[in-house]
Amino acid sequence: MPNPNPTTGDSSTPRKSRSLVLKSRPKGRVVNGDFAWQEQDLPALGAGEVLVETLYLSVDPTNRIWMSDQPAYLPPVALGSVMRAAGLGRVLASSHPGMAPGDLVAGLLGWQDFLVSPGVALSRVQAQPGVPLSLYLGALGMTGLTAWVGMNDIGKPRAGETVVVSAAAGAVGSIAGQLARLAGARVVGLAGSPDKCAWLKSVAGFDEAIDYHQHKGPALGEALHKACPKGIDVYFENVGGSTLEAILPLLNNGARIPLCGLISQYNEREPVRGPLGFEQLLMKRVMLQGFIILDFAPRFGEALAQLAPLVLGGKIQFQETILKGGLERMVEAVNMLFDGKNQGKLLVQISDVR
Ligand code: NDP
Repeated sequence: MPNPNPTTGDSSTPRKSRSLVLKSRPKGRVVNGDFAWQEQDLPALGAGEVLVETLYLSVDPTNRIWMSDQPAYLPPVALGSVMRAAGLGRVLASSHPGMAPGDLVAGLLGWQDFLVSPGVALSRVQAQPGVPLSLYLGALGMTGLTAWVGMNDIGKPRAGETVVVSAAAGAVGSIAGQLARLAGARVVGLAGSPDKCAWLKSVAGFDEAIDYHQHKGPALGEALHKACPKGIDVYFENVGGSTLEAILPLLNNGARIPLCGLISQYNEREPVRGPLGFEQLLMKRVMLQGFIILDFAPRFGEALAQLAPLVLGGKIQFQETILKGGLERMVEAVNMLFDGKNQGKLLVQISDVR
């Protein structure tokens, strides 16, 4: 007869968890050798704690930020600690009064199969029948919220204005652009392949899409100028670097820039200089605001109330790339973001989704 799990007193729940811990800080791209496998006995449940099985892990550009020790909005993942990551899990056992076995929870589950966590560190997800669970990490999770806050609270596009979105076929960018379109703006997306550009125009309803790999150096500025004959009123920034430098001369007076991310810089080994053309922010009276979605929790209720019917009703199109194969695929998945190999939200499925 199997020994009962000390966490739950139940012989059917797991006793051990596998995890990936950060062994060394990546230099440039992430490699498997930056991580070490660890197997640990699950501790007994303390008061208010829950035992969670990880279902999906979200793969986010910010994972790369958390691996580095540059000053950032959260402390770096300590060497020897489980890699931090957002995820969706199922409660297997609970001593938290508001959570019961079977509940779905979202939060910073980390690169591990199972975890014992304080219940207060997680949020319960009320899954609607027929809605794929993965959507609660994507369009109906932090991804959708980031696009909504950045576009609606900071970008504030008006009908007839021109909005440009970088990494436009990605998880955040695709929703940000469609929100601007729904506000009546002309929307131009930058993306890294002909297929992504075709999806933006034919499915997501963008007015124009530019494959930035086909337009290097001054050619990107020229393509943007052609696509934005009246200049740019809102630039939803996901990328930085030469993309931002191509945008700056085209900004209109009073333009807004929600600064969401700078993915072109996260793998850089040296501090990045620039951007060239920074003075345009002054000349054009531009409002640039960096934002971190974690600071906007008071906006989440209103945002989801607006997003859910748009996404579930098909007014906002959303793509997902879901890798199967569990924790073994996390490093590969992070690099896919930097190679543009994801179509929309990138997730790794960690266990069977029932
Ligand atoms: P995406 O789904 O957009 O995936 C990243 C995409 O970035 C890739 O698919 C690739 O698309 C593009 N990309 C990668 N490297 C480069 C490069 N050097 N130049 C141009 N494009 C590049 O990821 P997310 O939607 O999760 O994140 C998008 C941005 O939003 C990131 O910068 C991220 O850090 C930021 N973010 C910020 C949050 C906040 O709170 N501020 C919260 C969540 C995300 P392509 O094929 O088009 O090149």
